[in-house]
Amino acid sequence: MNVRTAVIAALLIIAIVTPGSALLGEKEYPKFLEEPWDHSPITVYIDEQNIPPHYSPTYPATVVNAMEYWENGGNGKLSYTPVFELVNTNDADIYIMWVENMEEVTGAEKGVAGFCRPMVANGRYVRADIVMEVGDYRGYSWQQYGDANMEQLVTHELGHALGLGHSNDPRDIMYPTYEQRENINPLLVETTYPLIIIAVLIAIGISGYLGVGWLRYHKRRQKLEDKLLKK
Ligand SMILES: [Zn+2]
Repeated sequence: MNVRTAVIAALLIIAIVTPGSALLGEKEYPKFLEEPWDHSPITVYIDEQNIPPHYSPTYPATVVNAMEYWENGGNGKLSYTPVFELVNTNDADIYIMWVENMEEVTGAEKGVAGFCRPMVANGRYVRADIVMEVGDYRGYSWQQYGDANMEQLVTHELGHALGLGHSNDPRDIMYPTYEQRENINPLLVETTYPLIIIAVLIAIGISGYLGVGWLRYHKRRQKLEDKLLKK
């Protein structure tokens, strides 16, 4: 068992034993946090600077639609009404970016089309990163995601950024479909426990993000994490 496998195994075990994890039944709708943000509006930055070759300039509009979905009641599972504000600074609460291929760029498992990684401190989100890929292999050929597909993916990830876990109901936007199957990242949000946070940092380090834009961002993020976690 190499280090990475060990970390992932550890995280999965933690996820399974952690109450309220996405593995629970629908009776209690799985939530990472009931009310993750301590302020409103929730600011959103869409990264249109570091874009992959098959990025579509129509994608930001899908984000706007996704924000409206949640502002207008979403899937009915939020206990609060979120208000979003698009901002032009990447110090935003929610950072959204695209990569060409999730598996190649972020080291995610096959079939992962997007993920949301919230950063938790004192039981609240301090920020959440949403990374989407612009397409995936269907059969033998690579296909770019169209706007309808992208909107679904972004809406789902935004749901995580609002504190929701995965639904067992295939009709629910928070049901993880094949395209929306994510890696372990969303499960880490239960965590205010130091051990898990350390595991997160190790996992982040090991996955080795390769995108140039991602790398630059990752350094900024590392500083934030150092500030938050090493006091
Ligand atoms: Zn998900």
